[in-house]
Amino acid sequence: MMSSYKVIKTHFDGGANVFALTDKSLFYIFKEKNMSYTQASGGTDTAKGLGIALLRFPGGTKIYPCPAYYVPDNPSSTFSPGALKYFIGFKVAQCDALSHCNFTDPQGHNTVIRTVVDNLLDYLPIEFLIPTDQKIQQSLTVVLASLATKYPNSQLIHQRLAHASDEKIREMCAKQHLTDLPKQYKCLRTPCPICIVCKGTRVPRNRYCEVPLEPGTCLHLDFTFFNKVSIRKCTSAFSITDATTSYPFAFPTRSKRPPITIFRWFISVIRGMGKKPVFIRVDEGGELARSRDFCFLISELGLVLQTTGGYASSLNGKSEVTHRLVKNMVRSMLQSRGQ
Ligand SMILES: [Zn+2]
Repeated sequence: MMSSYKVIKTHFDGGANVFALTDKSLFYIFKEKNMSYTQASGGTDTAKGLGIALLRFPGGTKIYPCPAYYVPDNPSSTFSPGALKYFIGFKVAQCDALSHCNFTDPQGHNTVIRTVVDNLLDYLPIEFLIPTDQKIQQSLTVVLASLATKYPNSQLIHQRLAHASDEKIREMCAKQHLTDLPKQYKCLRTPCPICIVCKGTRVPRNRYCEVPLEPGTCLHLDFTFFNKVSIRKCTSAFSITDATTSYPFAFPTRSKRPPITIFRWFISVIRGMGKKPVFIRVDEGGELARSRDFCFLISELGLVLQTTGGYASSLNGKSEVTHRLVKNMVRSMLQSRGQ
């Protein structure tokens, strides 16, 4: 059987508060973004992203989720005792140079690991789970956020402002948008665990399509309801977005029934313009995929219906990208309340 773990010689880093990994495929959750981080030496460097890796100690059975920066240019991956304490709640994470490290996890389980010495540098052989296996991905839930308990002030402000970015918060403080905000905001020294869990995504294993499609070939559809009736008595909106150009079309409607006539008309118009629509992508569990009439119409028009997985409307990216920011904020707030 192939092992699901990869042993990485990680350099023990006494100062930094987060792990650093040179291998992107080891991230269970990942968010690609250039960000600066503080090194053990006190200097700053740029990471290419931030995420969560799942690790275990050699020979151990317990898996610990840990935040890690993605630093492809670093000479080696680094290991941070501080991160184990701050993010996971380790009671002891202490290393004796050129000898061994001693860990006590939140449940009181003790582990001692001998360090491997190479060129007078300490390394620890840490086993990282390779999250390519679909079964592994589905069977694990990262619970990191509920474990970090002692937060600095900046973290509390960040949480209160619905996990906004440092730049946004600094602007809000400078302009005193809320009366009790400090005039100056000190950026988070360690990344917010809740943000990583909620805003990161799985590392894509393969591309969606090989060749860019002709405009009009793949259409992303969405049908949403409003909570309020608009002035013109509309209760819902039907949106069509071309996957290749991101060109949007929107149709407010007065009925909550799937907009069969509008869609039939739309297809005939773009066919008249010489476009060749083939793929129609909708949310699984959405109003459209559940409608018998709509599915019949798709086959009657000679189109192929593609659905995203349930509750994963982000795969229907083109038509839902605007919802993402709001959803991230809400999810972050729910998660930090332990829900
Ligand atoms: Zn956050």
